[in-house]
Amino acid sequence: MNLICLSALIANAVHGEPALPPVADCPSCNFVIVVLDVVRAFNTSPYGYERDTTPNLRRAAEQGVLFEKAYSVATWTVPSVGSMLSLSQVIDNGLDFGWDPTFASWHEWSSGITPVARVLQSRGWTTEAFIQSSVVRQDLGFPDGFMSWNTYPDVSPPFDEVAQEMSAQAKKEKPFFFYVHYRGAHVSLLPPEEYRSLFTADGKPLEYPEGGFTYDHAKQVPDGAEKFITAFDQTVRWYDDGVGTLLDTWNDPQVSDKTYFLVLADHGESLGEGQKWTRWGHCGSAWEERSRIPMVLLGPGLPKGYVVKSAVSSLDIIRTVLSIVGADPDGVSTWRGVELRETSPTYIVTQGSSKDLEQRWVSLRTQDGLKVRIQNSTSKTRLYDLSQEDTIISPANDPALLQALDGAVRYFQALEQTAPQGSAGGTEINLSEEELQKLRELGYIE
Ligand SMILES: [Zn+2]
Repeated sequence: MNLICLSALIANAVHGEPALPPVADCPSCNFVIVVLDVVRAFNTSPYGYERDTTPNLRRAAEQGVLFEKAYSVATWTVPSVGSMLSLSQVIDNGLDFGWDPTFASWHEWSSGITPVARVLQSRGWTTEAFIQSSVVRQDLGFPDGFMSWNTYPDVSPPFDEVAQEMSAQAKKEKPFFFYVHYRGAHVSLLPPEEYRSLFTADGKPLEYPEGGFTYDHAKQVPDGAEKFITAFDQTVRWYDDGVGTLLDTWNDPQVSDKTYFLVLADHGESLGEGQKWTRWGHCGSAWEERSRIPMVLLGPGLPKGYVVKSAVSSLDIIRTVLSIVGADPDGVSTWRGVELRETSPTYIVTQGSSKDLEQRWVSLRTQDGLKVRIQNSTSKTRLYDLSQEDTIISPANDPALLQALDGAVRYFQALEQTAPQGSAGGTEINLSEEELQKLRELGYIE
C-alpha cells in the first residue's frame, strides 16, 4: 500500500541555498551510520549546551561537518530508524503505528520499500548492523539486506566491537556499510558509576533508583526533574565516549581515507519543556526538543569544521552520502529527496503520533523559519507554530505552503480510509512476555 506521497510536497518546494560546498564522488567508499538514541541536540556540546556532555561529538564536528538544524523524520525509534534504513517517509513505510501489535512488517505495509542495506549488498558492500535496542526489532523487516545483525544488551554498548570491526573491514577490498544503533539516553537511565558524579552541584554521585531513572521519577520524586536531566546528561556523556572510540578508529588513515562516518540521533526528547513532563518523553508531536537532533558527518572530501546552517533531515544526509559513494538507489526508493550537496529542501518533514494513534501529525519546517504542525485529531486539521508549544495559528498566505498543507490533509484522509483507527493493517504477531516487559520498561506500552 502506498499512500499519497509526501514527496509531492517536497517536489513542489522551492530549492534553498547550497548547503555544502561541492563534494567529489568517492565510488565504493564505506559508510558508517551511528545512531545515539534519544540524544537531543539541545543537550550536546556542539549545539551550545552549558554542560560539556559530548566533547567527542564536538571533536568530530571539528573534523567534519556539523548540521546546525538537523531534524529527525519521526519522533520515536521505529519510524525514524525504518525511514532511514529504507530512504522512505513514514507515510510510505507505514511504521508510525503506535505500538499496534497487528503491525507485522514494512513489507506487509508497502511493496515499495527497498532497504538501503539490500541496495548496498547487491552492489558489493559488506553490510552489518550492531543493534543495542529492543525496539529496533528484527520482525519489522529492518535486517533485510544486512549480512549480519548483531544485538547487544542494554548495559553493554558495543563500542569496542564496532571499532574493531570497522578497522578489520577497512583492510579488506570490499566496501562496507554499518548501521550502529546505541541505546543512548533512553529510559531507564542508568550509566556506569564513573559517570554518576558528573554535572552534579556538589560533585557527589547522583543516587540512582533501582533500575534507573524513568519519566515517572522525573514527575514524582522531589527534585525529580533536575535529577532526571542530570541522569540524562551523564548517560549522554557515557555514549559520547563510545563516539570517541569510533572516532579514534576513523582517524586511522586506512579508515578515514575511504569512510563516511555519520553520527546522529533518531529523535529528540522532551525534558519538561513548557513546565510539563509528558508520559512518554518523546513520540507524539514534533516540537523542537523532540525532533531536533545532533548530526555530524565526516569523510573524504568533506570540509573540516564546516557548519551547515540550512535545515536538513536525516534522510537528506543519508541519501547524499549514498549518492557520493555511487549507490544512490534511484528508481527503487519511493522517496524523492533533494540532494544536499546541491540544494536543500524547503520543507523538512517530521511525523508523529500519539501512542493510541488517536492523533497524528505531519510537521513541516521551512528554511525561512516558519514551522507548522498539522494535527489530525478527530478529523480536524490544525496548524501550530512549532517554536511555541500549543500556539495555534492560521494558515499562512503562502501558495506553496497551502499546497503542502493540502497534501497533508489528503494524506490524513487517505489514512482514515485505508486503516481502521488503531490499526495499520497486517497480520497479528505475538510478542513474548520478555519482549512486552522490555517495551514496558522503555515506556512504549503500559
Ligand atoms: Zn529512539
